[in-house]
Amino acid sequence: MPRSHFSPASYAGATSPGKHVALSRRRSSAKIRVPLATSRCHVTATLLDGKAVAKEIRDELGARVTNVLQRLGRPPALAIVLVGDDPASEVYVRNKLKTAEDAGMGVNLDRLPSSTPLSAVLGVVDRLNKDPKYDGILVQSPLPKSLGADAEQRVFDMIDPGKDVDGFSPVSAGRVSQNREGFAPCTPAGVIELLVRTKTPIEGKHAVVIGRSDIVGKPMAALLLHKNATVTICHSRTRDLPAMARTADILVAAIGRPAFVTPDFVKPGAVVVDVGINSVTKAEEAKRIFAGYPDRLQVFEKKGSVLVGDVHPDVAKTAGALTPVPGGVGPLTIAMLMANTVRAAELRLR
Ligand code: NAD
Repeated sequence: MPRSHFSPASYAGATSPGKHVALSRRRSSAKIRVPLATSRCHVTATLLDGKAVAKEIRDELGARVTNVLQRLGRPPALAIVLVGDDPASEVYVRNKLKTAEDAGMGVNLDRLPSSTPLSAVLGVVDRLNKDPKYDGILVQSPLPKSLGADAEQRVFDMIDPGKDVDGFSPVSAGRVSQNREGFAPCTPAGVIELLVRTKTPIEGKHAVVIGRSDIVGKPMAALLLHKNATVTICHSRTRDLPAMARTADILVAAIGRPAFVTPDFVKPGAVVVDVGINSVTKAEEAKRIFAGYPDRLQVFEKKGSVLVGDVHPDVAKTAGALTPVPGGVGPLTIAMLMANTVRAAELRLR
């Protein structure tokens, strides 16, 4: 039987609109230059502080949560479905539950064992589609392999597009592609928010996206295109990837390979967005990546693992601006999930 966790509308936790945290590159008067890591290496890149921008986004949702609460008689509410016990998914889901609760939103977790047949998972989605208590549905990816190769596609196909706050359904993908109103996947939507709010110019720039997944690479490219960037998508079969990447004014790395993007991929002064989240657990790999970054090696020694993006930390010496890992794109993904859920609730009020 699915275990259920429901956090009712404790609106007391909602935040009020916050002060604008200005974190811009050279053009803004309020830009800040922050070292990306305490190290002996010379760092030139400006920090694009995703954590602060995510807080700004969450703070702005406060008034909108109150408005939904007053008009619907309940706050915006998200239903999360977690199948299996993947440790990374457990952490992501915990963060999503806490963020929703802190924002005064309703949130429910349906927990299913990994032995659950796909038909039962689809049954849960069907129930949530019909349940008026929920504005948004999120089925945590990845689903256990035992459910079959096409399980995620079948689940995402089933989610009501009006509740598809993760933006993974084919209807949402089509809407993103055509620049229509809908739900964009949270990670690429968060990257756009970060660039816009830090006043990073996009229009007319050459953006190179490394990665062509349906949830990050492709929608990222579409969203950058809608902001009038000239966009190139690179992938595992791209020839001379470093040379292609070096043509980028904005380089987005969404590959899933630790520290893959090295300084030779980066045009001096380029904006580099590191979407990757990789946990390095081998001491040798940690030492190789973080040679010269003693504080990160200390993290490894203390915890037995350390997070690294798809971008090598040395890129901070070449890039003009860079998102850190952790504290870059990750917090924005969750903030955009909240924003999409609030918007889904608002759409019901129309
Ligand atoms: P994915 O495995 O679905 O796609 C990876 C893409 O990288 C593929 O399109 C592939 O063509 C490309 N690729 C793989 N090897 C390559 C190579 N050698 N050269 C060039 N391209 C190569 O992964 P995904 O779901 O798109 O996620 C990418 C990364 O982003 C992962 O590290 C993931 O953990 C991370 N991620 C982070 C967030 C966040 O909130 N920050 C959200 C989603 C994903």
